[in-house]
This record gives sequence, structure tokens and C-alpha cells, in this order.
Amino acid sequence: MIQSISFIGLGAMGWHMASHLKKVSGQVYVWNRNFEKAKQHEQIFGTKAVSLQQAVQADIIFSCLPTSQNVENLLEIYSPKQGSIWIDCTSGVPDIAKRLNQKLKHQGVDYLDAPVSGQTVGAERGTLTVMVGGNQTAFEKARPIIQAFAGLIEYVGGSGAAFAVKAINNTLMATHLWALAEGLSILKSQGVNLHSAMNCINHSSGKSNVSEHIMMQRVLNRKFEKTFALDLLQKDIGIALNLVTQNNLQLPAFSLIQQQFNQISKPDAQQVDFSAIVKILEQKNQLELC
Ligand code: NDP
Repeated sequence: MIQSISFIGLGAMGWHMASHLKKVSGQVYVWNRNFEKAKQHEQIFGTKAVSLQQAVQADIIFSCLPTSQNVENLLEIYSPKQGSIWIDCTSGVPDIAKRLNQKLKHQGVDYLDAPVSGQTVGAERGTLTVMVGGNQTAFEKARPIIQAFAGLIEYVGGSGAAFAVKAINNTLMATHLWALAEGLSILKSQGVNLHSAMNCINHSSGKSNVSEHIMMQRVLNRKFEKTFALDLLQKDIGIALNLVTQNNLQLPAFSLIQQQFNQISKPDAQQVDFSAIVKILEQKNQLELC
């Protein structure tokens, strides 16, 4: 029987994901680098804010940090207990998942790469898509716990497979955003009403998740509300492009997309939502998508 669960990283995603875990365990521990957030989480959701040393001693440990490197750094200092399962919901690097899987296996711990999709709203509603890679027996044990914040849970293969799927998913999302912004730029220069155009596209074959849920809600209304920082998307595209290089593939469109999205560099990219990349296209063409 699962006794304790901990969640490490109460950011835009982790804050909400951790809030659902009380549905599946009476003992939910949370840790955050800015510890004040962990204490707030305890007050609001009835979880328990603990030290990182205590958090890694749970039966099931979730992490949701910006990068795989952040997770690896923690695991260089702290060791989970034998028999536990580490579920890494970071959008991470496949090779680091394989490395952590090997390292933890020697300590009797299972490591699953389990990145999520569905934005902060999906995290809040508990309807995230969770893709999982790693040992399948560990996955079956973890599935009922992951279910607490998931709409869809899909086992996609061995260690690192889920990080690869996530990187490709996000590169596709970036491609859809950029392509739609290009299309709308043409229509704007033709004097077309973009809201009417979007209505047509969303009832036609050119629609996508970006056209249905991002373009009007963040760009055309000029709000660019920050829920997913641009630097995190740049990281995901970088992970996908590294897989292209490692496998010696010729994929020109994804390389082009990376060039476009890397036009805003850190620290600015950390401060803005990924949708703000559209402003670069607008500046070059001296128009505004509204
Ligand atoms: P945020 O930047 O909102 O939160 C990052 C979290 O990680 C915070 O809790 C932060 O702590 C903590 N953190 C940052 N650096 C370190 C470190 N060096 N050591 C320990 N803790 C650290 O990120 P998100 O929640 O948006 O993203 C988390 C992961 O989920 C990323 O891999 C992202 O790509 C992925 N993701 C994000 C989505 C989104 O819509 N936002 C959607 C799907 C996946 P502190 O509070 O102290 O800064």
C-alpha cells in the first residue's frame, strides 16, 4: 500500500499537480526551493511542507523542475529510499532520463520520465496528458497515483521515451504557432478581419490546439498572459533538435523553427510567455496581429 507521496517543485505546473494528490494519499509532502511557497501550499491544500531531505524519503516522489539538470543536481546530493519510485514530470532530456534510471536502479529505486501536457489550466483541473517512460511494472504501480492529476496516461516505452515524445509535441506546438502567425500576417496585410479568419480556420482543416486555445486568447487580445515561459519552450525545441543531430536526420523545418524561437535570448525569454515570440514576426513585418 502506498503510504507517502512527495512533490518537489511547486511552480506554475507543480503547484496545481501537487494539490490533487490528497485524493490518493493521506500523507502528501511538498518541497519548494522558495520554501514560503511550500508553506502556502500546506495552508491552502492541507499538504505538509518538509525539507528536501525528508521529501526524497517518500514512497513516491514527484519532481517538476525546469530542466533535467536541476533534477540530476538534487539526486547528486540526496538519495531516495530503496523500493521507492521517482516520477519526473519535468520536460527533460532523454539521455539524462536513461542516466538517472541506471543510477537509481542500483539504489533499488525506479525512475520514470513522466512529462505532462495541458498547460496550467490542465494542471489546475487535473486533466493533464501524462506520457510515461521507464520500467513498465513501476509504471503500473505508479499509474493510480498519477491518475490524481491526469486526463490521459500513456506508457510510451523505455527510459527517456516520454521525454522524447514531450519534446516533439512541444516543437510541433511551436511550429503551429509560428505557422499560424505567418498565415495571419498575410491576412492582415490583405485587410482581412483576423477574428473572422480565426473563426473560419477553427472550423476548417487548418485548425490546431494553438488556433483554438492560444492565438485568440493570448495574441489577438494582446494580453500574452504568462503561463509557460518562452525559455522553457526553447529548451524543449533544443531537446528535439539534439535528437535530430544524434540520429543524423535531415529535418529542415524544425531547425528553422528553432532559429525563429531563439531570437529572444535569456533573461528576456524567462520573463515572457512563449506566445510573445509572435511579436518578433510582427516587428519584422511592421504589423500587429489584432
Ligand atoms: P516554473 O518556472 O513556474 O517553476 C519552476 C519550479 O522549479 C519552481 O518551483 C522553482 O522554484 C523550481 N526550481 C527552479 N530552479 C530550481 C533549482 N535549481 N532547484 C530546485 N528547484 C528549482 O516552471 P513550470 O512549472 O512552468 O515548468 C516546470 C516543468 O514543467 C518544466 O520542465 C516545463 O517545461 C514543464 N511544463 C510546463 C508547462 C506550463 O504550461 N508552464 C506545461 C507543461 C510542461 P522557485 O519557486 O523557488 O523558483
